Amino acid sequence: MLDQATVALVRDRATGLCEYFRLPQGYDLLPFQCDHIIARKHGGADDLSNLSWSCFSCNNYKGPNIAGIDPIGLQLVRLFHPRSDVWSQHFHYNGPVLLGHSEIGRTTIEVLLAAR
Ligand SMILES: [Zn+2]
Repeated sequence: MLDQATVALVRDRATGLCEYFRLPQGYDLLPFQCDHIIARKHGGADDLSNLSWSCFSCNNYKGPNIAGIDPIGLQLVRLFHPRSDVWSQHFHYNGPVLLGHSEIGRTTIEVLLAAR
């Protein structure tokens, strides 16, 4: 269980945005959460380098996944890592539509959004 001070640090570092798809808390009825980028079941730690701020849906659709299948290349690709990847190198919005412009971006959208 993460302490409230750690949760506040993660939230503030993300300026309140979901670090996967950059939506603010105000667009979601469900409270945002701390996400373990690498799930505990895969050896992920509780330290700040492994935590991201996530909307409820991203966190729950991601679950313990760390990879998925790129819908174009059909290869196994790791998911976006909010601490080590640069968001704009993998995603962009075309109006309200989120697009992935790398295999990591496409795969992350596929795992976190496509099943919704
Ligand atoms: Zn999200």
